[in-house]
Amino acid sequence: MSYEPVIGLEIHAHLLTASKIFCGCSAAFGGGPNTHVCAVCLGLPGALPVLNRAAVDFAVRAGLALGCTIHETSIFARKNYFYPDLPKGYQISQYERPLATSGVVELSSGAERRCVGITRVHLEEDAGKSLHEGFPDSDRKTYLDYNRSGVGLIEIVTEPDLRSAADAAEFFSRLRAILVWLGVNDGNMEEGSLRCDANVSVRPAGADLLGTKAEVKNLNSFRFLQHALEYEIDRQIDIIREGGRVVQETRLWDANTGRTVSMRSKEQAHDYRYFPEPDLPPLFVDAARVAAIRNAMPELPDARRRRFVDEYALPDYDAGQLTQSRALADYVEATIRAGAPPKLASNWIMGELARKLKEIGVDIAAAPLEPDRLAGLVALIEQGAISGSMAKHVFEKMFASGLTAQTIVKAEGLTQIDDESAILDLVDGILTNNADAVAQYRAGKTATFGFLVGQVMKAAGGKANPKRVNALLRRALEAR
Ligand code: ADP
Ligand code: ZN
Ligand code: MG
Repeated sequence: MSYEPVIGLEIHAHLLTASKIFCGCSAAFGGGPNTHVCAVCLGLPGALPVLNRAAVDFAVRAGLALGCTIHETSIFARKNYFYPDLPKGYQISQYERPLATSGVVELSSGAERRCVGITRVHLEEDAGKSLHEGFPDSDRKTYLDYNRSGVGLIEIVTEPDLRSAADAAEFFSRLRAILVWLGVNDGNMEEGSLRCDANVSVRPAGADLLGTKAEVKNLNSFRFLQHALEYEIDRQIDIIREGGRVVQETRLWDANTGRTVSMRSKEQAHDYRYFPEPDLPPLFVDAARVAAIRNAMPELPDARRRRFVDEYALPDYDAGQLTQSRALADYVEATIRAGAPPKLASNWIMGELARKLKEIGVDIAAAPLEPDRLAGLVALIEQGAISGSMAKHVFEKMFASGLTAQTIVKAEGLTQIDDESAILDLVDGILTNNADAVAQYRAGKTATFGFLVGQVMKAAGGKANPKRVNALLRRALEAR
């Protein structure tokens, strides 16, 4: 019997607001331990939370981008549990009535199109951090840093619509791209700004009912997510094949051994005793506010990708690559607007520019080469003024100096000889001076052609357009 995996993800994304969700403390990552704290985020008695308006706007933005319905009224609740990094003894989160529900995200890779339902997007606060190493007494003590306590989050929960580890990783990566594109999240998984829990079960292929799931916590890279799911799917199938039953539990991914290990079972699961947060009124987001947020949204990656195909006739592959980030897509459009033919612009940006940026470890947003400069270079290639290899040389110089292509070409006397009569003069000269080679070619030893091309290029100081040299030389040799 063959088995089918079923996967649903729960993703936590920090909101890129300047301050925390219920107080005015900085929400920035880092800072000296316990320097971004106050009575509210330390949970001191009597301190009252006040909702950050910007956090709500960001959450609405994300909800809209994921195709969700934004609810006019949503409610904050207390999720009660004890943990040292949770000083209040409860986390404020949305439970029964979340901000947004019923969205959808489409996966684009592969032949068939697959849709992933978004169950809900809700607002909540993050907890602090327990630090188990790096301090003088770390062998005996756990240290607590509350800088993260009260940082605003959205939790995004998907329907159990994913059917492979690879699709789950692709979904997470697309979600990250959308959130970063919107400016809602910085996408930094090492710093924990974006975290993923994966729920997975298996069932006989074609079955309707869902199998018992396990939850794998805190997968902070696309690779870990994929590997953990692959391992977990195999583990569950093996259990069932051997006649056993999968138990519902929470597991952890151990990257060192490449396995998931049990953390707690359903029996040990928390009863969070949720109840509505008495210190916060229901959150009210009216239609006008949602409309204003919708109107201020940037064009989303999918729409932009389609427009790159429709408006600039770029291949879908190029359009997909060029809309990986908003900064990259902006760069492409600026280059095209500065006059570069779209496909040439695309080739240069995905080729030389990407290579060079990677080499110096700089993001496209901080590229030392302005789009109009690149367009200037592309224009010279288009006009046939410089050859492809000259262009690469000029590109390097532009990148290093910031000068225009025109200036560099002029200063180095790089202009390509493209003029037909000028090249014909050179060809005539070479044919006259190499009567032997010409005779050999005409006698059928066509290998001498390459030699003659070389001679013409040499006479031209390497600056003749090689395509034209080839054509004119062949014509002259065949003509006699
Ligand atoms: P819980 O009550 O354990 O939190 P939920 O029903 O809230 O479970 O679902 C949490 C996540 O688990 C969602 O992403 C959902 O799609 C996914 N999920 C639920 N049931 C299954 C299942 N049987 N197999 C795989 N994923 C599941
Ligand atoms: Zn605070
Ligand atoms: Mg749940």
